[in-house]
Amino acid sequence: MMKKTIFLKAFSGYFLLIALLSAAILTYAFQTIREYSIHLMTDDLYRFTVSLRSSIAPFIASKERESLNAFITKLDAAVQTRITIVDSQGVVLADSKENPRVMENHRNRPEIANALEGMTGNSLRPSATTGEKMLYVAIPLGEANPPSGALRASLYVSDINTFFSMLQNSILHITLLIVLLSLVLAFLFARHLTEPIRELSSAARTVAGGNFNTRVIPSHSDELRDLATSFNYMTERIQLLVAELTRQKEESRSIITSLQAGLFVLDSQERFLIANDAFRSIAGAAVEGKYLWEVLRDHRLTEFFQEAREKRKSVLREMEFRGRSFLCSANALAAGGEMIVVMHDITELKNVEQMKKDFASNISHELRTPLTAIKGFVETMQDEATSQQKHYLSIVARHTERLIHIVEDLLLLSKLEDREQEPLSDKVSLAALIADSVALFSKKAEDKGISLVSRVASDMPSVCGDAFKLEQALINLIDNAVKYSDKGSITITAEHKNGSAIISVQDTGTGIPAEHLPRIFERFYVVDKSRTRTLGGTGLGLSIVKHIVLLHNGTIKVDSIPGAGSTFTISLPLCQ
Ligand code: ADP
Repeated sequence: MMKKTIFLKAFSGYFLLIALLSAAILTYAFQTIREYSIHLMTDDLYRFTVSLRSSIAPFIASKERESLNAFITKLDAAVQTRITIVDSQGVVLADSKENPRVMENHRNRPEIANALEGMTGNSLRPSATTGEKMLYVAIPLGEANPPSGALRASLYVSDINTFFSMLQNSILHITLLIVLLSLVLAFLFARHLTEPIRELSSAARTVAGGNFNTRVIPSHSDELRDLATSFNYMTERIQLLVAELTRQKEESRSIITSLQAGLFVLDSQERFLIANDAFRSIAGAAVEGKYLWEVLRDHRLTEFFQEAREKRKSVLREMEFRGRSFLCSANALAAGGEMIVVMHDITELKNVEQMKKDFASNISHELRTPLTAIKGFVETMQDEATSQQKHYLSIVARHTERLIHIVEDLLLLSKLEDREQEPLSDKVSLAALIADSVALFSKKAEDKGISLVSRVASDMPSVCGDAFKLEQALINLIDNAVKYSDKGSITITAEHKNGSAIISVQDTGTGIPAEHLPRIFERFYVVDKSRTRTLGGTGLGLSIVKHIVLLHNGTIKVDSIPGAGSTFTISLPLCQ
């Protein structure tokens, strides 16, 4: 309530100031008038006593006290002024109000004491005789010093008081008038002062209400004018900014709406803030304002979002929802705990992929029997063939062997790709596995003049998994090392670090050029086609190794220097 406070402050401030000032001035004036009136009356009384002095001199000289008393009593009745005459000892000779005989000695009255010392005395005090407040003026009598007596005139102050109460009344009226006037003036002034502020605050409310066309008219040429100008400038800027924001919002809304992928934003309470049409059709209902669990009742999804929230970074995962496959990416925003989720429908892609896999698996199955038959018959034919026929038959046998190899590798791959595998839980000793695999190649290596070395850490723990598949992976790696080396050595090591088993197969062979490295784990990818063919490779070996490693939640990497050799390193989690 700023407006009210400023108004009240200004109003009451001005009012108080005017009221206090007028009260002070009036009190001062009142005091001055009162003092001046008493001063005037004292003067009057003095002149009266001086003029009276000569009139009473004969009475005093003749000592006619009764006549003196009668004279002054008459005078008192005429001018309403009490007159007292005392002798040099202060004894009251005559008094216009009281019987002088019963009156006490007046020597000690201050004004009379002064007069008896030859001076003019005056005093304002209650009368000892009547008890009422009186103004006294006394002068000495006679020419001699000390004087022969004193003449005193006195007036009831109540007379003055009557005058003063009249004066007070009219002053009070004036004061009241001034106060009323100052009230009105203070009100008008305070209103005039706060008017622009009121205008500004009502304009600010209108702006807050969304009307950015509001402007205030700068009225005065003071600070408020600057404020009004700044306010108008600010409103103009806000108007521009809001227009820009609205445009950007519209833009992002149309981007979000036109997205093919489902997109939604969750607040920190897992409630939907934004969702596009694509997501609405995935969810099958309107979702705004609902909680995540009301729409997607799937604990795997909830876990996924939880993970994204905890990791505070983008998380990507394939998910099944309502019979369709989605590639979901969830990104938790650090600031407010919101999360942006994008769901790409990859059902068609998955179907095509599955079809490819099925095709490879089916064709391998179908080819295996006829190939085995061909192999058998070729072997039979070789027994009875001429030497030239034997030459051709051996070529047929070699190619058939290669075909059988490919088919077997393909079958193994499709088996590995089948997600619904039984869990891998055997405890596998890597030392035994490596010894067995190395033994398989010792002859072949020796023939090529390559030394085969294995080094397994003495405290090597077991890994959990499928011994047969792990052996297959190791065999493929050692097979490649022997195949693509013509000299030097092949070293197989196993050690453990941070809860993982690290197995590496290092050779000093041909190496792999850097540009091929990212692709060598792909199916049928070969670096040198002619060489691979002569060596009997299928291009499936490393693909199988990679699948086996992934199946064990491990990783595989390769480092290679062409001409110097390659190192394949597998990392597998140890048994818990
Ligand atoms: P292949 O059956 O042809 O060996 P792989 O999938 O096992 O198929 O290997 C893919 C390609 O990677 C090979 O054609 C070969 O060129 C290259 N390669 C694999 N291992 C090695 C290695 N130890 N040294 C050099 N090249 C290798």
